[in-house]
Amino acid sequence: MATRKRMSPLAEQILEALEERGYRTTEPRRAVAQVVANQDRHFTAEELRQMLPGLGRATVFRSLKLLVDVGVLCRVLLEDGALHYQMSLRGHHHHLLCVECGISQDLTGCDIEDVLTQTSDRHGFELSGHWLEVYGRCRDCRSKEAVSA
Ligand SMILES: [Zn+2]
Ligand SMILES: [Zn+2]
Ligand SMILES: [Zn+2]
Repeated sequence: MATRKRMSPLAEQILEALEERGYRTTEPRRAVAQVVANQDRHFTAEELRQMLPGLGRATVFRSLKLLVDVGVLCRVLLEDGALHYQMSLRGHHHHLLCVECGISQDLTGCDIEDVLTQTSDRHGFELSGHWLEVYGRCRDCRSKEAVSA
């Protein structure tokens, strides 16, 4: 049996997702999985690269894309257009993004699929997917403002 360095449970889940889809859990991918699993906030590809100084840029970027493809990492588009990443095992979901503190909250389920299907139908358009981010101010930021007012 192959010896494995102890990884966090979340990192193990990332590696399992890779193995389930037939990808080998190479040393670089394991390193990326471990760092990704340790982040409690969304991060950019560049930030991830800086956290993995031992890996080449292309390796980090390819691994990121792979993790998105196998569904353990989701893309988070900030209001300013910056693309971030965040670990997620939820499958299809959307985010509530606070424009003040930057926190991202996952929404469970998707309420807009039916509306989009109807709209697409009206245009003779075959729907293959959608991406939606919701911007605003979170409860914490709103309550801070209420206190200082
Ligand atoms: Zn997400
Ligand atoms: Zn906030
Ligand atoms: Zn949706």
